[in-house]
Amino acid sequence: MGLIIYLNGKFVPEEEAKVSVFDHGFLYGDGVFEGIRAYYGRVFRLKEHIERLYDSAKAINLEIPYTRDEMSEIVCETCRQNNLKDAYIRLVISRGKGDLGLDPRKCEAPTTVCIASSITLYPPELYETGLDVITVPTRRNIAEGVNPRIKSLNYLNNIMAKMEAAIAGVQEAILLTQDGYVAECTGDNIFMVRDGVIKTPATHLGMLEGVTRNAVIELAQKRGIKVEETVLTRYDFFTAHECWLTGTAAELIPVVKIDNRVIGNGKPGPVFAALLDDFRELVKHDGSEI
Ligand code: PMP
Repeated sequence: MGLIIYLNGKFVPEEEAKVSVFDHGFLYGDGVFEGIRAYYGRVFRLKEHIERLYDSAKAINLEIPYTRDEMSEIVCETCRQNNLKDAYIRLVISRGKGDLGLDPRKCEAPTTVCIASSITLYPPELYETGLDVITVPTRRNIAEGVNPRIKSLNYLNNIMAKMEAAIAGVQEAILLTQDGYVAECTGDNIFMVRDGVIKTPATHLGMLEGVTRNAVIELAQKRGIKVEETVLTRYDFFTAHECWLTGTAAELIPVVKIDNRVIGNGKPGPVFAALLDDFRELVKHDGSEI
C-alpha cells in the first residue's frame, strides 16, 4: 500500500517523495527529527513532540520554516491523507540541499518530511515475557559533543550500540555515560523499581528527554508512587526489583535480564503492569485530535 508523504509543502505518493543526494541530512546527518504516535484518532502529546523538535533545531542553529501550529497541522494532515487513526509518525527536518562542503550556510532551505505509517520495534511476545538486555562498550555521546538531548539525524552512536546488542544475541542495549552511569537504551529511556520507589536516570547526565518517559513519571506520581530522577549505576539496575523501557515506538516494555542478571523474579513486575494499564488508558484521550 503506497503512502502519501508530506514533502516541502506538498503531499505526494511515496514513489515521488524524493530528496536530493546533496541534502546535508543525507550527506552529514545534519538535521533533526521526531517519532510521534497517534492512537484512536489523537496524536499523543503532539505539543511536547513539537516543542522538542524546535528545541533540537535551535540547538543545531536550524531555523524551521513553519510555526509550531503549522507543523502540528502538517502532522495531523499527513495522518488524514493516509486515513490513519493509529499511526507512527516520522517528522524530519534536515538542513537541506547544499554542496559537498560542510558549511550549513550553503544549504538553500531546510527539507521537511512527514511520514505517517506504522512501526513494530520488538516482537509482540517480548511485551509479555520481557527483554534480555546488555550494557555495551559504546558509550553515549558526550553532552559537549553532540548532546544526546538533541534528537538529531545522526544516530550512529545508537546504531553502534544496537549492533553490539545484536552481536551478543539480545534485542536491546544499555548505553552508559562517559562516567559509567546508566544513560538510556538505543531508542528508549530506562526505569527501575527498588523497594517501591521508581528511579530513572536524570536527563542532565546526557540522554534524550523522552515524551513517554515524562508521561510515565506523571502517571506514577498520580498513583502516589515516588519517582527519583537520579544518578544510577549498573549495580542499581542489577539489584532492581523491576525494570522497563519507555519510548514512542516501544511504548512500555519490561526488562527481565541485564548482563545475565535476572531482574526481580524474572517476570514483568506489578508496578510495570499498573503503569502500562495507565498508559493504555492515557493514550485514549491525551492527544491532539487528527
Ligand atoms: N532515547 C532515544 C535515544 C530515543 O531515540 C528515543 C525515541 N525517540 C527515546 C529515548 C524515547 O523518547 P520518546 O519517549 O519521546 O519517544
